[in-house]
Amino acid sequence: MFKRFSITFWATVFVSVVCLSLVVIDVWRSVNARSSQLQEMERLGTNVARAMAQQADDTIKAADTALADLVERIETDGQDARALARLQKQMAAQVANLPQLIGLFVYDEQGRWIVNSRGLLSQAYNNADREYFIHHRTHPERTPHVGEPVISRSTGKWIMPVSRRLNKPDGSFGGVVLATLDIEYFRRFYQSFDVGTRGALALVGNNGVLMLRKPFDAERVGSSMRDSELYRHYARMGGDLRAGSAFFQSFHDGETRLHNFRSLEHYPLFVTAGISREEMLERWRRDTFARSVGVAVLAALIGFFGKRLVGQIKLRGQAEAELRKARDALESANRTLERQAMQDGLTGLANRRQFDVTLGNEFSRATRHADTLAFIMIDVDYFKQYNDVYGHSAGDEVLRAVSKLIRALTPRRPGDLSARYGGEEIGILLPNTEINGAQAVAERIREAVEHLRLPHNGSPLGHVTLSAGVATISPQRGVHLASMLVEAADKALYVAKSEGRNRVSLATS
Ligand code: GH3
Ligand code: MG
Ligand code: MG
Repeated sequence: MFKRFSITFWATVFVSVVCLSLVVIDVWRSVNARSSQLQEMERLGTNVARAMAQQADDTIKAADTALADLVERIETDGQDARALARLQKQMAAQVANLPQLIGLFVYDEQGRWIVNSRGLLSQAYNNADREYFIHHRTHPERTPHVGEPVISRSTGKWIMPVSRRLNKPDGSFGGVVLATLDIEYFRRFYQSFDVGTRGALALVGNNGVLMLRKPFDAERVGSSMRDSELYRHYARMGGDLRAGSAFFQSFHDGETRLHNFRSLEHYPLFVTAGISREEMLERWRRDTFARSVGVAVLAALIGFFGKRLVGQIKLRGQAEAELRKARDALESANRTLERQAMQDGLTGLANRRQFDVTLGNEFSRATRHADTLAFIMIDVDYFKQYNDVYGHSAGDEVLRAVSKLIRALTPRRPGDLSARYGGEEIGILLPNTEINGAQAVAERIREAVEHLRLPHNGSPLGHVTLSAGVATISPQRGVHLASMLVEAADKALYVAKSEGRNRVSLATS
């Protein structure tokens, strides 16, 4: 299969495959990088949400434990002045201990301060209208209550109220103990998380009231998120401990974020950590773009140089083919020249030069091997007259016809050679041949020419004939020369002519 297509084809395939692989690998890598970036984002969100939920739970729990303790004391020790003084000291100590705690307060059933962590008892404020107060007055349960965030009447800060109900000995509503948690405390904690510049964190009540959000916006504290997609999703989940993640478009700023939400373990609140999808993918996009440009440039360079390389290979192939063609033409011209140099143009037999070379070679070989070398000298009878009667070109035709016959009738062993020896004389060299064999060949040729019955008015025989002299030699070194063989055949030919022509004569010795 490799040989069926050209080298340029394979070079093109190779360059294309390299370019394509570069692109495919880059796309594959980018897709992978994107999904791992998103996974990273999910992991980050989960961890942040878990930390936030834990922190909120612990922060509220510490305040709530103090509240439970207060309830216990008031209900057992009563509310006389000494007990209240002791209580006040303890409350102040607890507030000093817990940084998230702004104050601890005890109200009677009318909403008036009985005692608080600050010690001074101003009756200017009545908190009977607060949501938590109404809640405990109307709900007999003793569980803690986390109220909606409010601006403190005593400090002007955003606070998160956590409260418990106080009962009178008869079990009727006896007031409320309240801890105010500093929203700022949560805010500082949330500030420490890096969720990108477009990320958002929030602490939300299970009833959909926003406690706090990062980025912080005082306007939004205490607002309802009930209509947000995020809250509806969370509310649909049900159950005590809810956790999950999903993409939502922000209710507040329109940003699409992956929100990880998680409910607190002990209080009816949940946290969510939202990480901006765009921001998360922005870096990936920048990287991917930079790399894609690099890969595209690289692929273009490879493609460009590859194309040039293929062009060069193609050119070289063409040059080689042309060179091959030129060489073949030259070789064939050489062969023609060689043939022409060794061949007689008129008869197609070997020429005199080749005859001389072959005679020399065969003579040496016969000398070495102690072989017999035979030679037939043929001459057309009355050829001068033929030319005179029929013209020179008709004479040429006769020579051609005779040569054709000779070619057909001489043996084709290696070393056998028929050559135009002189004008209308043809010599036949037969290596390793005895006199009888050579005579038979000469006789066959003579007979065949006679049977051609080519008319020849200038000859007493009436048609074209030929005479032949046959000689053999078993050459010995230092005794014989090649020319002796030719001379002997010539002499025999002379005898054939003088005996009346159209015959074969053998050399005497
Ligand atoms: P003989 O029977 O004794 O051989 O008589 P002849 O006329 O053939 O005498 P010779 O062999 O001496 O004749 C040679 C003649 O052959 C001379 C020339 O006119 C003719 N001849 C030689 N070469 C050619 C040739 O190439 N073409 C033609 N047409 N004639 C040639
Ligand atoms: Mg002659
Ligand atoms: Mg002749």
